[in-house]
Amino acid sequence: MRETNVIVGAGQAGGWAAVTMRQAGFGGRIVLIGAEAHRPYERPPLSKSVLTAAVEPAVSWFHDPSRYLDLQIDLLLGTAAASIDVAARRVVLRDGREIAWDRLLLATGGRARPLAVPGGERALLLRTLEDARAIRARLDGARRVVCIGAGVIGLEIAASARARGAAVTVLEAADRPMGRSVSAEGAAFVAGLHRANGVDLRCGVAVAAIERQGDGSEVVACADGAAFPADLVVAGVGMERNLALAEAAGIATDRGVLVDEHTRTSAEGVFAAGDVAAFPHPLFGPRLRLESWRHAQNHGIAAGQAMAGAGKPYDDIPWFWTDQFGVNLQVAGLPALAARTVVRVDAPPAFVAVHLTADDRVVGVTAAGAPRDIRAGTALIRAGRTADAAQLADPAVPLQKLGQSGPGGSGPA
Ligand SMILES: Cc1cc2nc3c(=O)[nH]c(=O)nc-3n(C[C@H](O)[C@H](O)[C@H](O)COP(=O)(O)OP(=O)(O)OC[C@H]3O[C@@H](n4cnc5c(N)ncnc54)[C@H](O)[C@@H]3O)c2cc1C
Repeated sequence: MRETNVIVGAGQAGGWAAVTMRQAGFGGRIVLIGAEAHRPYERPPLSKSVLTAAVEPAVSWFHDPSRYLDLQIDLLLGTAAASIDVAARRVVLRDGREIAWDRLLLATGGRARPLAVPGGERALLLRTLEDARAIRARLDGARRVVCIGAGVIGLEIAASARARGAAVTVLEAADRPMGRSVSAEGAAFVAGLHRANGVDLRCGVAVAAIERQGDGSEVVACADGAAFPADLVVAGVGMERNLALAEAAGIATDRGVLVDEHTRTSAEGVFAAGDVAAFPHPLFGPRLRLESWRHAQNHGIAAGQAMAGAGKPYDDIPWFWTDQFGVNLQVAGLPALAARTVVRVDAPPAFVAVHLTADDRVVGVTAAGAPRDIRAGTALIRAGRTADAAQLADPAVPLQKLGQSGPGGSGPA
């Protein structure tokens, strides 16, 4: 009998998995189930051009409808999976329909974390196209915007709101922006970028409540007594992974659905990929959790191949970018694992830093306006190269040259 592979979650990872498993030779039925009404689309524009463009830009779809038709992928959109039964190999949809599967992929991603303070529901959140449209509409009349949270999304919204002419305040609880994704030096660069562009960026601030005023505006009240009036409050305080289906089905999770290097979960025949997954990485340990575009794509592709029986171990080097005030900042590897950072270039809008372990192994590169250094740095990370801090600090010594040294060696060839 013809097999069925079901994918729950029609986002970036789910969409790529569907297309890939067909291309990799799976000849059975493919069903892609999505809670959102849309076929898979790109989220990065949501905090950037969708907020800033004079006319709302066209949605960036990953694949045309004809692609799904040609590859015979059944799209079930606007309908969420309510539960899965791994013993009976069935998924039950919220509308009551049941679908039997031979293999199942969980690509359920995450949702924006709500702001957990009194009145927190007054802060708009950003994850979906509809969220972005709601923020875009409110930005139209907003003179004062307060962004709570200086992570990537909060800062991109702040930059977009400035581009729309609003006075923008960013309130961050930690002592620096982008604390999860860049080093202290990278954070200082980002903070400088925002301040140079007129953002009132305040760190170490605990938001206590959002209060509605008689005129419909809001006031963001802080624990230290400071108060920030706003026409629009947006919170970018992180993402919560959509784990409920996996947890209820008894599939192993640890702040992510646990998978092996072939995207297989603890349940036979069940796979997971993208933002929702916690996966092992040969360089970065047993439980990596990423929230980035390239990982969602490549992990989805890896799952599609695995589900078609053609997988190979997943070992992509983490990478993400962010665009703020016309500066394209890219981060390869994991700066958070570094013992120290060597800054090569700090001349805004340019910035290049290399992140090293205690034994001088390169584990990350952060670069603005220097994509070549990101490519060279990625090669160093992948090769597990050590590097000499003095040479790294000298921008006259190209990273590409350092990358040519022998395995584990340092210095240019
Ligand atoms: C505003 C924004 C800007 C970003 N910008 C960048 C950037 O500049 N650079 C970068 O590297 N990354 C960026 N990212 C991150 C990147 O977009 C994500 O990592 C990527 O979208 C994750 O894809 P995913 O498929 O794993 O999860 P998701 O995109 O979350 O997709 C999961 C899908 O599953 C659906 N779903 C969940 N539960 C169910 C269910 N029970 N039944 C059916 N469907 C379900 C959800 O509705 C969703 O559509 C950005 C993200 C956002 C939100």
